[in-house]
Amino acid sequence: MEFYQDAPELKNTFHSDPLLKTFLQSALAPEAFKQVSQHLEHLGQRAVTDLLQFSKEAEAQPPVHIPYDPWGRRVDDLKTSNAWKQLEIAAATEGIVATAYERKFGDQSRLYQMALLYLYHPSSAFFSCPLAMTDGAARAIELYGDAGLKQNAFRHLTSKDPAQFWTAGQWMTERTGGSDISGTTTTAEPSNEKLNFGATHLLRGTKWFTSATTSQMAMTLARPTGAVEGSRGLSLFYLELRDEKNTLRNIEIHRLKDKLGTKALPTAELSLKGTPAQLVGGMGDGVKKIASLFNVTRVYNSMCALGQMRRALDLAQSYSRKRKAFGKLLIDHPLHALTLSDLETEFAKCFRLCFFVAGLLGKEECGTASENEKLLLRALTPILKLYTAKKNIAICSEVLECFGGAGYIEDTGIPRLLRDAQVLAIWEGTTNVLSLDMLRAFQKENALPAVLEYLKKSNVDMTEINALLAEIQKKGAEFQEVSARKMAFLIAELVAASLV
Ligand SMILES: Cc1cc2nc3c(=O)[nH]c(=O)nc-3n(C[C@H](O)[C@H](O)[C@H](O)COP(=O)(O)OP(=O)(O)OC[C@H]3O[C@@H](n4cnc5c(N)ncnc54)[C@H](O)[C@@H]3O)c2cc1C
Repeated sequence: MEFYQDAPELKNTFHSDPLLKTFLQSALAPEAFKQVSQHLEHLGQRAVTDLLQFSKEAEAQPPVHIPYDPWGRRVDDLKTSNAWKQLEIAAATEGIVATAYERKFGDQSRLYQMALLYLYHPSSAFFSCPLAMTDGAARAIELYGDAGLKQNAFRHLTSKDPAQFWTAGQWMTERTGGSDISGTTTTAEPSNEKLNFGATHLLRGTKWFTSATTSQMAMTLARPTGAVEGSRGLSLFYLELRDEKNTLRNIEIHRLKDKLGTKALPTAELSLKGTPAQLVGGMGDGVKKIASLFNVTRVYNSMCALGQMRRALDLAQSYSRKRKAFGKLLIDHPLHALTLSDLETEFAKCFRLCFFVAGLLGKEECGTASENEKLLLRALTPILKLYTAKKNIAICSEVLECFGGAGYIEDTGIPRLLRDAQVLAIWEGTTNVLSLDMLRAFQKENALPAVLEYLKKSNVDMTEINALLAEIQKKGAEFQEVSARKMAFLIAELVAASLV
């Protein structure tokens, strides 16, 4: 009889995740745990049924940019698949963003919401990307928006009704740079005319990466007329992309990016050609204001990396119980079992770190965080993001190998894991840029003592970090800069060790 290999299988991703269950059980009050686990069980089932199917369909039907109508008029239509729209509907009804703002369980609501995201992301074809920016925009509006933005945009961003739900874009990167936004060339000219939705300025410039350009609104940086050069001269703006007739408001889409992964996600290059926009939180301090958005999107990034690691491992675990070599199942080969077990250990460290930082975020948002916890959150957010992104790439690469040749073959779906993992280390700040952001948190906000105090209390072995800090003290600023990455990974490992 001819041999055919059985494919790996996925089971309800909440049921099959003892770490998630036990963590939530210990973190939440019993009644909260009961309600949260019911919802997660439902979403865990969707993640391996309809959402999984939608994500496959959305990947197979990538978005298309239609610049002109048949008669030559510029239309810049973005066509996305029905499956992509279904993933948006699911995100709204499951409250992937809304749950964080309902705050039903007080400062623990972020744990609940991040657990939803963790289950949703691996079956979302990266619809989690617009959701990250949506949540970030909601937070920025909560902190800096006026009454109009809070009544209108905020309500849409945090709605559970798919007909009301909006997603947001976050447009920062220009051709001059994404890490260094000081060279932003987009200008904002004040307008005396009566513009729509409370707009105060007209924006002109080119944005080089705009993901989810199908969003209803975007947050962006621009330099108001007369503002100084460099990042100090930038202000934060809110804009609504389309008018009542669904026509873009003086925005020209040049093209969609041809990307390594995230194939279902429309990422465009576009120009703002006198686009109405509203100044958010007054003139100046744009970078500081948009940082409130990053704090959220970077934790999202980490949770998505975590969800993807879990998915990759679930597939590898299942395969190891179906595939035989040398007369026995892969899982019964000690070296293969050890490989998987090492990957599970790396995953567990990331899991603890992610939910620790999510807990701190929830506390900060609800005003229950101590000063030290706020500093920990500030320092650990870039560290968490860079650490989980790199671990995810390493885990997905190893999982590919766990499948042998099949892991390299497109229609098994395994190669996509690795392609998609790569982006999480780039957007929302590369590894080096985030390492330097951690240093900024130490230097400008004096967050290092809070981190060291936390580590000391946790009784982890601090020999290596103390030696590095002493060496930095001796050798000075340049050495500190080149050690930033090493220090970030070291702190991540130590905090993880304190939690596992
Ligand atoms: C699929 C995708 C979607 C995206 N969507 C969006 C979006 O919606 N909105 C948006 O605003 N942006 C988006 N981006 C852009 C992304 O945020 C940037 O690409 C990223 O921030 C890096 O900026 P850059 O590409 O200009 O690289 P650069 O800033 O040119 O960096 C190049 C390299 O230099 C390193 N580097 C830079 N500065 C330093 C330093 N001081 N010290 C050491 N090393 C340094 C970086 O680590 C990197 O390795 C998207 C990117 C991708 C790939």
